[in-house]
Amino acid sequence: MGQTRKGKTMTLEEVLYWLKNEDERSLDQLWDKADKVRHSRVGDDVHLRGLLEFSNHCSRDCHYCGLRAANNKLSRYRMPEEEIMSCVEEGVAYGYGTVVLQSGEDRGLDVDWMANLIRRIKRETPLAVTLSLGERSEKELSLWREAGADRYLLRFETSNPELYKSIHPSLTGQEPDRLELLRTIKRIGYETGSGIMVGIPGQTFDDLAKDIETFRDLDLDMIGVGPFIPHQETLLGRKAKTPGILPEEQVPNTELMTYKVMALARLVQPLANIPATSALATLNTPTGRELGLSRGANVVMPNLTPKKYRALYEIYPSKACIDETAADCRSCMHRRIRSIGRQVGEGRGDSPSYKKA
Ligand code: SAM
Ligand code: SF4
Repeated sequence: MGQTRKGKTMTLEEVLYWLKNEDERSLDQLWDKADKVRHSRVGDDVHLRGLLEFSNHCSRDCHYCGLRAANNKLSRYRMPEEEIMSCVEEGVAYGYGTVVLQSGEDRGLDVDWMANLIRRIKRETPLAVTLSLGERSEKELSLWREAGADRYLLRFETSNPELYKSIHPSLTGQEPDRLELLRTIKRIGYETGSGIMVGIPGQTFDDLAKDIETFRDLDLDMIGVGPFIPHQETLLGRKAKTPGILPEEQVPNTELMTYKVMALARLVQPLANIPATSALATLNTPTGRELGLSRGANVVMPNLTPKKYRALYEIYPSKACIDETAADCRSCMHRRIRSIGRQVGEGRGDSPSYKKA
């Protein structure tokens, strides 16, 4: 194992050793290593990103997600500009350094309207703007970057191309894969974030080890990792069994496995910003975020979405925090961060790897 500026060059065997390790005592060593690297490379600040789920329209049919186009049981919404701006201002008042504008892959979203919204947020607030709008053309991505957007989040979900194709049907038959698109996003100049779901039916331990290697190969600035949570209105949510792989090869979609992937992500890409995700908090609402922050994470994403829309952004069922207001989320996150002896970061909280690029 060698130490480089980027982090540990762990072999696939070393990564697999940890992924398959179930011994609590030795896992304590993994948590400890990840926490030490987090402390020494990105410090004790926990950065707050205000998450605004501003549209649940989606033209995709991802086999895992409740927002998929074919789910006609879901009422759709798209927030108007003034309503978005008042949530953004609430984020500024709460001291957040970033607003994350997230939606389904909403083809009804006017590209110029989006650019104007980004310009307005950048003009009227000090916030960094992160976009998470799905797969977009280089032209659209460049326009939004020129309008002032700072960061882009697009998870590659799994690095196994066959598994990816089987759960993420193409719209046109010839779009670039997400790994290719992530390289484009980086080249355009965005601070670039990606990640995966842990425990996708059909995902093997070898796949997961390669996902972790891919975080490093892509030199990601942000890495989001959450457990796959089945949704009844999706193909994957209804499947009882996974064909094609042996039961012992299937990665479990558990809280423990998610912590392992977060901790390993911290070791291979030490300067990245890594959130303790809502999906993790959905599996363990009392302490999931705190444990994530103690095992490699340094970011949380309090929700700014108005309460009336939260249940409609149902990516997966029983999502954490759907009954809370933005104010509740703010005080809850502050309390959790203080309870583990860490402090809320000030400013935008850019990834140090991006500043150095
Ligand atoms: N539409 C954009 C996209 O796909 O990149 C952004 C929104 S999408 C809902 C954000 C992420 O939610 C996806 O990248 C995926 O990893 C996650 N997600 C979707 N369905 C999920 C599920 N059933 N369980 C856990 N995470 C899920
Ligand atoms: Fe749409 Fe994103 Fe959900 Fe896929 S994961 S269905 S693109 S919202």
